[in-house]
Amino acid sequence: MNRERGSRRPRILLTNDDGIHAEGLAALAEALGAGFADIVVVAPDREQSACGHSLTLHRPLRMAQLRPGWYSVDGTPTDCVNLAVLWLLKEEGVDLVVSGINAGLNLGDDVTYSGTVSAALEAHLLGLPALAFSQQLDGEVSFAESGRLAAGIVERLLREEVPARLLFNVNIPAGRPRGVRLTKLGRRIYEQVVVERGDPRGRRYFWIGGSPRWKEEEGSDQAAVSAGSVSVTPLRLDLTDYAGLEEHADAIAALAADLEGVE
Ligand code: MN
Repeated sequence: MNRERGSRRPRILLTNDDGIHAEGLAALAEALGAGFADIVVVAPDREQSACGHSLTLHRPLRMAQLRPGWYSVDGTPTDCVNLAVLWLLKEEGVDLVVSGINAGLNLGDDVTYSGTVSAALEAHLLGLPALAFSQQLDGEVSFAESGRLAAGIVERLLREEVPARLLFNVNIPAGRPRGVRLTKLGRRIYEQVVVERGDPRGRRYFWIGGSPRWKEEEGSDQAAVSAGSVSVTPLRLDLTDYAGLEEHADAIAALAADLEGVE
């Protein structure tokens, strides 16, 4: 999308899943908007964490301008990216979409729950390069510092022609980062529990709980963040199990033969 940019400042669409008033979004907007980019913020009007790639199709969406360049939408991060790219900024165009900085990590298998990462995925589906930033919440956390770090990464990327298919999931450790690592998604050990309780009126309710544990795996995003490094994972959306194309070939061929015999 850089191809038409010429000498003008890049236009960056910012969104998040913690809502338009979130600290991580403000820090990112301040750091990115300070120097090299024009930013437009289109974000949910409230917290939408763990909404995944949810798209609102069964009710109207409303957009409100809060101040110049800042818009809230009563929908999900995915809704925000669609309204921004396909309507609000349709004429001007968008060079890059940045999502975050999320309050909390988005690592490994957990990325499918993430509204932060899903906003970047949606941008990717619309043909735009995108990055998602998430911040570890552990002890001392400075969103202002993480915002500057994120802006540094974005600025460096924008010095070159950014490939349209670029899709980075970036996780920032708490404290001063010790380097940056290119990583793969880690594997979560799922030990979730459903906790059953009773409300004051005697009706059952549930909480999904349990604390995440991770497989120790060299080169994973989780390993990088555990070691205090910034993790950059290049993502793609193709969920095909390519090994499965061979592994299941005979079974599906047999099924196809069976179905041919059925009229
Ligand atoms: Mn969130």
